[in-house]
Amino acid sequence: MTNTPLPRDRDTSEQDQFLTILSREDALARFEAALFPLMVPGEKRPLADALGCALAEDVVAPIDVPPFDRSNVDGFAVRSADLAAAGEASPVRVMLNDEVIACGTAPTRPVFSGTATPIATGGPVPRGADAIVMVEHTQPSGPRAIEIRRAASPGQFVSYAGSDIARGEALLRAGTVIGSREIGMLAACGIAQVAVARRPRVAIISTGDELVQPGQPLRPAAIYDTNGAIVTAAISENGGEAQFLGAIPDDEVQLEAAMRGALATSDMLVLSGGTSKGAGDVSHRIIGRLGKPGIIAHGVALKPGKPLCLAVCDGKPVIILPGFPTSAMFTFHDMIVPVLRRMAGLPPRSDAKVNARVPVRIASELGRTEFVMVSLVEGADGLIAYPTGKGSGAITSFAQADGFLKIDALADQMPAGSEAEVTLFTPHVRVPDLVIVGSHCTGLDLVTAPLVHAGLVVRSIAVGSLGGLSAAKRGECDFAPIHLFDDKTGTYNTPYLSEGLELVPGWRRMQGIVFRKGDRRFEGLSAEDAVRAALADPACIMVNRNQGAGTRILIDRLLGGARPDGYWNQPRSHNAVAAAVAQQRADWGMTIAPVAHASDLGFIPFAEEHYDFALVKARKQRPAVQAFLDALASDEGRTALEQAGFRPA
Ligand code: AMP
Ligand code: MG
Repeated sequence: MTNTPLPRDRDTSEQDQFLTILSREDALARFEAALFPLMVPGEKRPLADALGCALAEDVVAPIDVPPFDRSNVDGFAVRSADLAAAGEASPVRVMLNDEVIACGTAPTRPVFSGTATPIATGGPVPRGADAIVMVEHTQPSGPRAIEIRRAASPGQFVSYAGSDIARGEALLRAGTVIGSREIGMLAACGIAQVAVARRPRVAIISTGDELVQPGQPLRPAAIYDTNGAIVTAAISENGGEAQFLGAIPDDEVQLEAAMRGALATSDMLVLSGGTSKGAGDVSHRIIGRLGKPGIIAHGVALKPGKPLCLAVCDGKPVIILPGFPTSAMFTFHDMIVPVLRRMAGLPPRSDAKVNARVPVRIASELGRTEFVMVSLVEGADGLIAYPTGKGSGAITSFAQADGFLKIDALADQMPAGSEAEVTLFTPHVRVPDLVIVGSHCTGLDLVTAPLVHAGLVVRSIAVGSLGGLSAAKRGECDFAPIHLFDDKTGTYNTPYLSEGLELVPGWRRMQGIVFRKGDRRFEGLSAEDAVRAALADPACIMVNRNQGAGTRILIDRLLGGARPDGYWNQPRSHNAVAAAVAQQRADWGMTIAPVAHASDLGFIPFAEEHYDFALVKARKQRPAVQAFLDALASDEGRTALEQAGFRPA
């Protein structure tokens, strides 16, 4: 294992910060070498509290199960030799012994030749008997005898002592995770307490002045602490006993006190944020004072997750995860979970994997192992893996993905059409019933809601109108939502359809100017006049949209070549425009009416846009497609769209 060489000509500021970047493999190997062997002390737990724990030692069966030869049926204990000649035409008559062996009753009388003893399922086989005859195959013959019309082989319907579990047999091996089946085996042997590996106590600290805990109001410029919750849950999922200590501001004194306190009472400490080597980032400096050997790796050739910091302080792992939640999650699962599970006495996690085709080219950075989250859909011949990433800051890319694929550090891309191995986040991925790939609109959720409530899995992947059309042409989705204006014909969407696609009218979205209510520059004006007023005021700042967006075409039409302040601020969504105006970073922009109203902004209608669906004809008969069409046409669907500010076509 060697350091992966990194291209030198790029990103010099980061090169200064992370001079020694280790490859993923090298970093993990050094981390484990510094940490193990590590004694995880075992503990005794009552069976009821042992669920999910790993056995610390082998368990040997202390008794035979069953503990005696036992009848498997309701019937009669007999000597099989007595019945050798029994048949339909030649019944054998045997006398009944004067006892009935119920469950839990020990027999007192032997079965002599020519006799039988009534016995219940689970009853101990009496001395002398070697087979059981089912009650259904017998007939009473006077008060004290029965007739039997079938022969019985020796051992028939008998479970012998120790046939299930034999005394002295290794029942369960160390490292086995105790589930309900294991608990059943232990209980059958009468074991009430087991030695399990103690769950490592893991303290979790989020760092950052900007963090607010969920449930608290969000102040300006603050964000909710996502990593705290996510890491705490992931630690519990992987055998740790998580203790979340909250978010600590970027203050060296406070943070050092919190880290020392945490390490004193736990086996492992996981922080997130503040891992860059910038001025405000103090955690890695503190680690140097917490114990030897200190930092093992700071900077790993991973994407997302480069700023990961791995340390060992006096035998305890101390980890600083990158601040971005997605980066924090990937590095946690890839680099920390193996170590945590080993400390918890658990076997390595076995991830479920599937093969899928990647429909689009995925660019990748040379020199870093790259993880790309993907959403799985069913194609004509096998699974298709769509990248869902919105960048390392996006938490939804995690939630909407089914799993991820890995691009080798030495590759600079994964070409379109490649076969890739996808590691699933959960073993049983359900391929969606309905796949919608294209432009996203909040109205979509209103139409698919009844499908989801009816138990269908609906997957919508936002790749923009043109991306959706390509997917539809390749037959990778059911519908592609599009809103594409054709200058030549002056119409929406229809001119963009090709062979095999059919247009399903969706709804209209009113595009218009947004401004803060009460802004006298815009109140009561038409869109054209409002833009004129904005251009006349040099202090007025606009917010634009990205090149290629339908909204951008409308803005450029209104501006007529003008480039006012704010023109180069080009966010990619309707909501970002509303947020910029609401938060006074801009004074006006263009967005759709429902978004403007949801943000309580003033709105001047300008042009209605057609949001329609390109339907892949070959998939039209699928039940989920029909259900979507029904929902779109239903009164409930239309009412919901209208209430949200859309106009159904
Ligand atoms: P940092 O490494 O502290 O500079 O953080 C990088 C980015 O991740 C910043 O945008 C932080 O606001 C964000 N971040 C850091 N910690 C958290 C957290 N616990 N939850 C959500 N975002 C975070
Ligand atoms: Mg920070």
